Amino acid sequence: MSVNLQTPIDYLKGVGPNRADLLRSELGIHTYQDLINLFPNRYLDRTKYYKISELQRNSSEVQVVGKITGFKEVAQKRGKRLVGKFQDDTGTLDLVWFRGQKWIRDSIKLNTPYVIFGKVNWFNGVFNMPHPELELLSDHKNNLRSSMQAVYPSTEKLSNKGITNRVMTKIMQSLFLETKGKFSETLPEHLISELKLLSKNDALFNVHFPKNQELLSRAEFRLKFEELFYIQLQLILKNLIHKSKIKGFPFESVGDYFNTFYKHHLPFDLTNAQKRVIKEIRHDLGSNAQMNRLLQGDVGSGKTIVAFMSMLMALDNGFQACLMAPTEILSVQHYTGLLEWSNKLNIRIQILTGSSTTSERRNIHESLENGDLQILIGTHALLEDKVKFKNLGLAIIDEQHRFGVAQRSKLWKKNTSPPHILVMTATPIPRTLAMSVYGDLDISIIDELPPGRQAIKTVHRYDSNRLKVMRFMRDEITKGRQIYIVYPLIQESSALDYKDLMDGYESIVREFPQPDYQISIVHGKMKAADKDYEMQRFVKGETQIMVATTVIEVGVNVPNASVMIIESAERFGLSQLHQLRGRVGRGAEQSYCILMTSHKLSQDSKVRLETMVRTSDGFEIAEVDLKLRGPGDIMGTQQSGVLNLKIANIIKDKDILQSARYYAKRILDNDPSLGFPEHKVILKTYRELSKYKNIWNYIS
Ligand code: ADP
Ligand code: MG
Repeated sequence: MSVNLQTPIDYLKGVGPNRADLLRSELGIHTYQDLINLFPNRYLDRTKYYKISELQRNSSEVQVVGKITGFKEVAQKRGKRLVGKFQDDTGTLDLVWFRGQKWIRDSIKLNTPYVIFGKVNWFNGVFNMPHPELELLSDHKNNLRSSMQAVYPSTEKLSNKGITNRVMTKIMQSLFLETKGKFSETLPEHLISELKLLSKNDALFNVHFPKNQELLSRAEFRLKFEELFYIQLQLILKNLIHKSKIKGFPFESVGDYFNTFYKHHLPFDLTNAQKRVIKEIRHDLGSNAQMNRLLQGDVGSGKTIVAFMSMLMALDNGFQACLMAPTEILSVQHYTGLLEWSNKLNIRIQILTGSSTTSERRNIHESLENGDLQILIGTHALLEDKVKFKNLGLAIIDEQHRFGVAQRSKLWKKNTSPPHILVMTATPIPRTLAMSVYGDLDISIIDELPPGRQAIKTVHRYDSNRLKVMRFMRDEITKGRQIYIVYPLIQESSALDYKDLMDGYESIVREFPQPDYQISIVHGKMKAADKDYEMQRFVKGETQIMVATTVIEVGVNVPNASVMIIESAERFGLSQLHQLRGRVGRGAEQSYCILMTSHKLSQDSKVRLETMVRTSDGFEIAEVDLKLRGPGDIMGTQQSGVLNLKIANIIKDKDILQSARYYAKRILDNDPSLGFPEHKVILKTYRELSKYKNIWNYIS
């Protein structure tokens, strides 16, 4: 009989309706399949037996053989606790129960050898072990147990309701007994023998009940490989389908707009990296397939002009183009910049944001639909249903990590057939991660900054150095420079953060009084028009200091600003710090970034600050960030549900990832439709995975 893994968990021996409900709500386990895929967090070594005299104050879980000699009840604030004296030939320790006391008293045999297992604490001069696992020594000897015991993910509620690790292990055992371990193979025979992988059955068994370390490692390898293999297969297939099935609009010619701009209006020489990337985009746009490209380039690397010149290619072929940015300020800035270039070419360009008036909107909608309007810049407002293009040929998204995957696909639907898509991000993503997150996109990288940029000098200063920092600011302003001071605003609504910002602003105003100094302030609670007004004053050089929350984080371009002061820098994430620092160093002057913190710093904060001071290489910073935060947190992948991995880890298992990608690619190169008999198992597994959405949550 073949095993049906879609059986609801309620039917498993030892589960029952209450436990089934808990498993569903706490761990998302609905079926046998889900349970099998609940992989242990770690393993305990149960080969070692401790003597009580060997216990250390910081011992973690230990196993001890001894006898319980008696119980006593101890009153405490609420109720009482039960304490059992446990003794071996070297000493005693206290076993403690807060719950289930009657049951314990009734079932424990006094002065009989037990094996206890659990975590020891040191309290008031004695060791104690709360809620130990207990087993009669005689039973213990007869039990066949693996020397490495799986520890499953749990929650407080589960352990409170008695679903301890021991119970989980029992449940897992009954799953294996019931199914007799007959799980269908999910990888093709040739891969298994080429890579010397464990079979599916052996791998699953050994990951839950490892016989030894070697088998455990092989089991983990096989399961991680499989998980990553099917993700890569999915991504590569998606990309293939784009290229073959989804017709793009071939932009056959490079025409007047592009050539005129290139010959007569380029504001500067392009860097080699910019030229290369424009060629890559040109190649995509000229082919028959729809472009889906990620453009990575550090802050200040000059992505905007690449975006503009790509738009010109669309316009040259009679299509419209749009550019979507995550904030209003950034949209305005893009609009202002591109308007200047567009005017030289008589291109009709507009901006649409949340604060566009009704009549502006009406105008834009109309001229978009009749094709008068050629380029539209804006925020999320572009995604509204009312925004309909006559013939959108290219959609560009700036600063991708602010937008979810869903939004990317929404832009697609703006047309009968999807426009070319260019996604620009300033957060460099390590290659391995890019491969797994954006494996369905092609990637271009601008890895060169425009010439003449001086490295930004970055220092870390404590609040106690504030006077010196003020003096430095004054000197820079005297030289004609402008300064940003940024305050954290971690939560949009946090009153405390606003207080910090306003206090800071007031002290800056005191130190830098009018009329000698002019100060702008921008924060999230201001009306868009006011923000814009303040921003513009700073852009035009009418104010010397810009006090702001992180609203200026993305994209703002003021080349004359040469000092970035980040207050409470320990509260910012690495990529945020890197983005903020990128606001300066855009002009020819020496620029500075000053990271202000208090003396109290966590270990992680120290690493972040040291990294910022040490390097300005965005890729290096991204690697450190990845290590500190884990991939789940990066670039909003959390929200979009990307990387919902059960066993593999993108950072630790990047070699396996690379190998999985290699084999997935090799198989699809030979057999793109997975029609070969030996690939039947892949097709079947692939379809099943898509059906049950196990690891496919991230499909957009
Ligand atoms: P980002 O990649 O962060 O969006 P921008 O496109 O805003 O960068 O460019 C940053 C600054 O560098 C702008 O002031 C832009 O005009 C300038 N810039 C871009 N490319 C070049 C270049 N090849 N030579 C000189 N300056 C450039
Ligand atoms: Mg930019």
